[in-house]
Amino acid sequence: MTKYIFCTGGVVSSLGKGVAAASIGRILKSRGLTVTVQKLDPYLNVDPGTMSPYEHGEVFVLEDGAETDLDLGAYERFIDENLSRLSNLTSGQVYQEVINRERRGDYLGKTIQVIPHVTNQIKATINRVARETQADVVIVEVGGTVGDIEGLPFLEALRQMRKDVGRENTLYIHVTLLPHLATTNELKTKPTQHSVRELRGIGIQPDMIMCRADLPVTDDLRDKIALFCDVDRQAVIPLETAETIYEVPLVLEQYGVADFICERMDIDCRPPNLSEWADMVAHIKKVKPYSVKVGVVGKYVELEDAYISVYEALNHAATHQDCDLEIEWISSEDLERMRHIERLAGLDGVVVPGGFGERGIEGKIVTAKYCRVNHVPYLGLCLGMQVMVIELARDTFESDAPNSTEFNPATHFPVIDLMPDQRDIADLGGTMRLGSYPCHLAPGSVAAQAYGVDLVHERHRHRFEFNNEYREQLGRAGLVLSGLSPDGRLVEIAEIKGHPFMLGSQFHPEFKSRPTRPHPLFAAFIKAAGDRARAKMNGTGE
Ligand code: GLN
Repeated sequence: MTKYIFCTGGVVSSLGKGVAAASIGRILKSRGLTVTVQKLDPYLNVDPGTMSPYEHGEVFVLEDGAETDLDLGAYERFIDENLSRLSNLTSGQVYQEVINRERRGDYLGKTIQVIPHVTNQIKATINRVARETQADVVIVEVGGTVGDIEGLPFLEALRQMRKDVGRENTLYIHVTLLPHLATTNELKTKPTQHSVRELRGIGIQPDMIMCRADLPVTDDLRDKIALFCDVDRQAVIPLETAETIYEVPLVLEQYGVADFICERMDIDCRPPNLSEWADMVAHIKKVKPYSVKVGVVGKYVELEDAYISVYEALNHAATHQDCDLEIEWISSEDLERMRHIERLAGLDGVVVPGGFGERGIEGKIVTAKYCRVNHVPYLGLCLGMQVMVIELARDTFESDAPNSTEFNPATHFPVIDLMPDQRDIADLGGTMRLGSYPCHLAPGSVAAQAYGVDLVHERHRHRFEFNNEYREQLGRAGLVLSGLSPDGRLVEIAEIKGHPFMLGSQFHPEFKSRPTRPHPLFAAFIKAAGDRARAKMNGTGE
């Protein structure tokens, strides 16, 4: 029998509910259970793929090409399982399916209502995840905060789940905030009480309350919350802001969260083995011999969530390389206006991440040039690879014309372009290359050395490709096409010959980096940046 854990949030959003859900998954997995995590998002978009990163942060891409909420990135990094399209359900998807079925006549003339038709559709998707993954435990997180109007159908569906599958197979965890008032220097429980009351009004009595706080949560406070909210004392879990998010599973284990869950739901499992995880956390926290300064040049740099997987992947690699990491977020638009160009000078390495649209593109090209000429390690992710190619072409053809047809459809040097067979369907909108594709690595290349194998699978999310018409000319100019699709038609990785590390991938390696297993390309990049940092320290650098 599948066990279901439902995570709701109260008081404020951005509490780290996703990290809490992911951490619960990790501690249960460490007991030998199979787990999966699903996110229910109450907004009406069908998926976040069409939303601006300013609205929603990064779009996380799964193996199957689903464009999902960034919390799925946290789930995959913590539980280290690949999730699927079904793992992120939005109101938009639910309504789309219900309306399609209504149009097809599937409801046999009935009046279609939120209860039961919308709630049934939500429950059907939760059950499908359980069936298809065959996980022992399905953890379901509801986006937003209890009290949001749009979240009600989801909460109602979760309420019904307990009736459907039984009390012993369901557990409700409510994540709240204990705000801190500087004037009295204390944590307040009242908002938590109100939010639990709101949840009970919907018919859900939480079994466990996790309290986010910036100060230690005393036993008195735990007693008070237990009393007012009617939960067991040991089920009030303090979640103080941790030094690193990867510490959260260890904190939960320490508070006996997994023991409580297993006892409540009668789950039989072995004792936890979190030793590899604990070693990783200890390694993150330990003092490192030197520090590496990496610039991320993008157009959404004001909002770190827009590049959260890049941030995580850089950190995984730095820990692995045993160095501290300092990230400078640099606006490509500033560089375009030749502002702050001097900021590039102090960097040990530069990442140009993915992006869409023309804004800031010239600033990224300036960055690629700077890195190529000054031998600064450069990692280009998707658009960052395209930019690297454009820059080299401009230098090779001694012209400003080379470009991607995304930015200048009439360019005489379309070095980045749609594939011929894509052009005819471009207007239909379904032309994005999404999800996992195989890539063959050229023996002896920087990429092949980094990966240590000759075939890899990586996740894509883009429309434009390297234009094969330019393979020869750019090859002569020093571009090594070190990763190709198995049929040889698509350029997946390019690198600059004779440079300490200048490599771009058409895919997004950041999606597959894990805290205990940094991505090989990020690891190789940080190693090159580290070499530069140490050479500077020893006075032998450029
Ligand atoms: N805009 C580029 C394309 O569509 C790159 C996309 C990306 O960086 N994810 O090909």
